[in-house]
Amino acid sequence: MNDSRPAILDLSPADLASWLRERQQPKYRADQIFEWIYRKRVTGFARMLNLPEALRSELENNFRLFGLRKVRQTGSEDSTRKFLFSLVDGNLIETVLIPASPDLYGSAADRKTLCVSTQVGCAYGCKFCASGLDGWTRNLRSGEIVEQIIQVEAETGEKVNNIVFMGMGEPLANFEQLLRAVKTINADWGIGIGARHMTVSTSGLAPRIRELADQPLQIRLAISLHGATDEVRGQIMPVNRKYPLAELMDACAYYSSRKKQRITFEYILINGINDGLDQAEKLARLARRIEAKINLIPYNQVQGLNWSRPSSNRQNAFLQALRSSGIDATIRREKGHDIDAACGQLRLQTVRDKTFAAVSEVR
Ligand code: SAH
Ligand code: SF4
Repeated sequence: MNDSRPAILDLSPADLASWLRERQQPKYRADQIFEWIYRKRVTGFARMLNLPEALRSELENNFRLFGLRKVRQTGSEDSTRKFLFSLVDGNLIETVLIPASPDLYGSAADRKTLCVSTQVGCAYGCKFCASGLDGWTRNLRSGEIVEQIIQVEAETGEKVNNIVFMGMGEPLANFEQLLRAVKTINADWGIGIGARHMTVSTSGLAPRIRELADQPLQIRLAISLHGATDEVRGQIMPVNRKYPLAELMDACAYYSSRKKQRITFEYILINGINDGLDQAEKLARLARRIEAKINLIPYNQVQGLNWSRPSSNRQNAFLQALRSSGIDATIRREKGHDIDAACGQLRLQTVRDKTFAAVSEVR
């Protein structure tokens, strides 16, 4: 069903206060409503028991409370769990819950990390990525970004305390809604997760990195680098033509200096493409300049793409080359990488299965 009521999760306290003012309702009602939504996690306006009944039904008539519906789930409690959600317009997004993993973006042993999507599809078309394969459909609204946390917590009964914007989509290409979502996730009246426990990952939109640097929140930044020269990077990431490495590195340096923070470079190891020791040496040089940490990720096989991950020996040689240059580098070794496969794949598979089913039906 396509619910056309606006989502209440898209509202800031000021937005809700002005809606209430128009209805001659006292200001404290906004606090009460947000407390029901974000603290008590009620599933319907009718359950907001300290509100007058007339206001409850007016809220019901004017807003939708939730819009995501779980359509698939993979993984089990002690491994990575992936959730496929449909949005009110039927589009599909993925959200991934990652159990405690000490090498993941400032996370300690007790961290539960949620990887959220920011767009349906992606326009950037990196050659190795499932999210970009079918192009870009639309931006997520901030409420749809925030709701991924609420729904996963409701599904699992677990509390998330670390957020990575590394799901489907390019977060910095949906800048305004991303910032709104970050504020809601951070706020005391909202989800209440510290900005230092949020990491935005970008394929390298240099001007937006600078803009993010000028924002007051101490949010962390990860760069999908995947190549240490324009030649190698440009081959697999078309965005490098628009923002070549020199420009990207300047923006990163600006970010580190404004935020007094260390950036993380993500570097997928793809067999025979970017995993040579000459790249490791150049990568070390880039990282040293801005004191970045490096997170190596062995490539996850994507259906329909011909890339593969290098052997463990090759992976280790790359890691050791970085470490012996004094770089703080880790490698993300996943258990069962069939389920852990990068974001975008569950959706792709489901969309293609559906298309296949539809085609078979016609026949
Ligand atoms: N658009 C943003 C955030 C989403 S992608 C960005 O590119 O940073 C999140 C991470 O998943 C990126 O580092 C991306 O390069 C990585 N990724 C994409 N496809 C992958 C694959 N097949 N195997 C391993 N990592 C992958
Ligand atoms: Fe988009 Fe990031 Fe995938 Fe590139 S890696 S296509 S920017 S989601």
